[in-house]
Amino acid sequence: MNSIVIGSGFGGIAAALRLKAKGHKVKLIEKHPDLGGRARVFRRNGFIFDGGPTVITAPYLIDELFTLFKKNSKDYIELAPLKIWYQFIFEDKHKFNYSGDEVDMKNQIEKLNKDDVKGYEELVNFTKKIFDKGFTELADVSFDKPFVMMQQLPALLKLKSYKSVYSLVSSYVKNEKLRRMLSMHPLLVGGNPFTTTSIYGLILYLEKKWGIHYSMGGTGKIIKGFEKLMNEVGIEIIKDNEVTKIISNNNKITGVQLNNHTNIEVDNVICNADPPAVYEKLLNGNENSSFLFKWKKNRMEYSMGLFVYYFGTKKIYDNVEHHTIKFGNKYKEHLDDIFDKKKLNKDISYYLHRPSATDKSMAPEGNDCFYVLVPVPNNQSGIDWNVEGEKIKNLVVDKMEKDLMPNLKDNIIEDFYLTPDYFEKDLNTKFGSGFSIQPKFTQSAYFRFHNKSEIYDGLYFVGAGTHPGAGVPGVLSSAKVLDKIL
Ligand SMILES: Cc1cc2nc3c(=O)[nH]c(=O)nc-3n(C[C@H](O)[C@H](O)[C@H](O)COP(=O)(O)OP(=O)(O)OC[C@H]3O[C@@H](n4cnc5c(N)ncnc54)[C@H](O)[C@@H]3O)c2cc1C
Repeated sequence: MNSIVIGSGFGGIAAALRLKAKGHKVKLIEKHPDLGGRARVFRRNGFIFDGGPTVITAPYLIDELFTLFKKNSKDYIELAPLKIWYQFIFEDKHKFNYSGDEVDMKNQIEKLNKDDVKGYEELVNFTKKIFDKGFTELADVSFDKPFVMMQQLPALLKLKSYKSVYSLVSSYVKNEKLRRMLSMHPLLVGGNPFTTTSIYGLILYLEKKWGIHYSMGGTGKIIKGFEKLMNEVGIEIIKDNEVTKIISNNNKITGVQLNNHTNIEVDNVICNADPPAVYEKLLNGNENSSFLFKWKKNRMEYSMGLFVYYFGTKKIYDNVEHHTIKFGNKYKEHLDDIFDKKKLNKDISYYLHRPSATDKSMAPEGNDCFYVLVPVPNNQSGIDWNVEGEKIKNLVVDKMEKDLMPNLKDNIIEDFYLTPDYFEKDLNTKFGSGFSIQPKFTQSAYFRFHNKSEIYDGLYFVGAGTHPGAGVPGVLSSAKVLDKIL
């Protein structure tokens, strides 16, 4: 069986490895000269900037891919568990160290609101139930048939999947700071906590189950480890080549065309590229699709965009934790602006990554390495990032200087930023969204883009836009679905 994987994100790499382990002849084609997609690495004057994922959860999903070939992941990568998972900071300067240390968690919760300790315990117990169903049982199940979804509906309703994550959390805890901290997880996979189905509350429990890890040398080291493994097991990696067309005959996939006009014949095409973009650009607007599929595709709502500013400093900011989440004043209104009104807002929240807190190799000696991520509207907004990019950069630098990094402006010695334009043009993602389509109930499981194409024989999808969804554990699980259906 000849299979081609288009795209080398975590999902594409996992798919290539799983198919190889099944005995397929596998080619992995990547548009860029380096692998990783959102997990690409940018190197600048001794600073190593991981482009995207930094929080590594459910590490067993990574180990499994090495085990498929009887290899030990420890010979390729080193994962270190973190003690403090996130430090949350509020406008009133209140800090909360969120971790797996339940005693410390409850002490801090008690200081915010004594009565919420019990509510927190009950919430964790409830998210375990969601996790057992939504992750353990369903994350690697193929939802390409409606009856699979129908079978699950009663259980999903019992788990209150009709509620949003924020509303679920609010039914257990009263304090607004706690509500924000315990409901922020959908943002990690591109959803608005006020509209994302409570099923994504499972992330809260998933973190507790296996902890939060950091890949020494950066997340890029995991990609390098996978690249080494792929070379060892005989997967052909074709970099710096873009697939411009997927060729079909009577709705059966027969091959792909590259930007250098080479055609490659193949039995299966596995797309790690964004499904709506694939259907629209690589399959000629999928003119063969049914009315129902066109309706489904056209009604999809997309995740937010991301503004990511990478910077290195000549000063070491030891007071900054590995992962910091700073909430602005307004929360719901801010998220409404980003997701619905699609407009920029000065009262931003941000996520600050400081890998050098754990790993000095990420910056030259005596320097510090960071990225700060600001959720912004995706490109449905029509925002001109050539104008607004610089303004957001200045805004977030001002905020960080005020919140926790004195004299930041004077200490930055290396910097650049990415906007939704990068996600749209360089990573081929519709509307430049950070995480493909949103994780709403009406866009989850059967309602998401199917792992086995609804339209074409021989066409499959892995990655953020398909089941189960975005995030490294999600896209690695999507390759497990493929493993089962192919
Ligand atoms: C800034 C940021 C921070 C994040 N932080 C975390 C985190 O801490 N933890 C976590 O779990 N998740 C995180 N995520 C989410 C996670 O990174 C993604 O959901 C996941 O990596 C997406 O993987 P994917 O398999 O969908 O492929 P992608 O990473 O989207 O890669 C798709 C690949 O396909 C290639 N491609 C597209 N079209 C073509 C074509 N026509 N021909 C050839 N190649 C093509 C692209 O170049 C790209 O390399 C983050 C995401 C971002 C952007």
